[in-house]
Amino acid sequence: MTATAAQAVLDRDGLNALVAALVAQGRTVVGPTVRDGAIVLAELTSADALPYGWGVELDAGRYRLVRREDGAAFAHSSGPQSWKSYLHPSRERLWSADRTPDGDVRFTPHDPDPPSYAFLGVRPCDLRAIAIQDKVLTGGRYEDTGYGKRRSGAFLIAAECTEPGATCFCVSTGGGPAAECGYDLALTEVVDAGGHRFLVRVGSEAGAELLEQLPRRAADADTEATARTVVDAARDRMGRALPPVDLRALMGASLEAERWDDVAARCLTCGNCTMVCPTCFCTTTEEVTDLTGDHTERWQRWDSCFDLDFSYLHGGPVRSSGRGRYRQWLTHKLSTWHDQFDTTGCVGCGRCITWCPAGIDITEEVAALDAERAEHAAHAENTAPGTETD
Ligand code: SF4
Ligand code: SF4
Repeated sequence: MTATAAQAVLDRDGLNALVAALVAQGRTVVGPTVRDGAIVLAELTSADALPYGWGVELDAGRYRLVRREDGAAFAHSSGPQSWKSYLHPSRERLWSADRTPDGDVRFTPHDPDPPSYAFLGVRPCDLRAIAIQDKVLTGGRYEDTGYGKRRSGAFLIAAECTEPGATCFCVSTGGGPAAECGYDLALTEVVDAGGHRFLVRVGSEAGAELLEQLPRRAADADTEATARTVVDAARDRMGRALPPVDLRALMGASLEAERWDDVAARCLTCGNCTMVCPTCFCTTTEEVTDLTGDHTERWQRWDSCFDLDFSYLHGGPVRSSGRGRYRQWLTHKLSTWHDQFDTTGCVGCGRCITWCPAGIDITEEVAALDAERAEHAAHAENTAPGTETD
């Protein structure tokens, strides 16, 4: 089912009833809440735990909670986590093996039995990120079965963006701030003289069935108009933007750019950007044995292309420099990702900018590469045969 027109309006009690209905279905409801000085994703047993009255101030390498007077629940941009923490967890056991008394080895595959998730407050950029991870992890010949199980049962409730952060740039990646598809229900929060309410659109049969159970009223023209206005205003207030150029071509033309040295001088190769990125999916595996050597387990865990060992082939790492590793990350995100998965690897959530300890800004780096390419092109034109001047 694709996006439909607005169906209903919920008030705060209606949002509480939504969470209660999902819990009653046996679902684990995950949504934003304030914890440890940030708006994090956590299991919610009530919509009262949403970050009502909290917003965020963001910049490169900077994140601060701020109070909001309007009491809005979803007027904040991405926090340090994304939904991949639940769908594609940072550690997962794949199998274990035990030595049997007769000297054989018995293998036991780990067959995950994940909870049935409901994600409340999924941003449009993160809807796109989930769709990208669906493609990467379940769209090929070899499916990540754990991801597939967690994802297939998940119920997604989008929250359209009304308050983009200073590091957000989803519009220039071709998405957000409106939720277009990929949700069961989509909320647009409206706070004005008409009250605090949530315009609801239905995106699936399951969403329609759930909405039927909730205390609601019909969508009215005022609420619909205000909801469109606040989302359109968010589109015009994006904190940042990627240059409007063919990014695949730019990356392909920038392999030897001097800018990689500049960014490498600042980059700590800590891998934070890959950990917080909602589309980064790379993993490695490691064996964990007990002291007796009779029991071993294979675990999958997130890995990062910034890790020196990530590109270890026979005899050593292929990408031993920070220059090479940053270039690999950015080129994969914006260029070769298209070759592999027919999509960009960046949805413009801005997390890698906010959570980079060195304040490295992907939009600034791409703009610098674009400027360097233009400079080289101008220089080449000026020095081409036949362009000499007296
Ligand atoms: S760009 Fe920033 S977050 Fe990413 S590895 Fe470098 S220092 Fe760490
Ligand atoms: S590369 Fe940065 S802005 Fe793009 S999706 Fe990943 S974390 Fe978000």
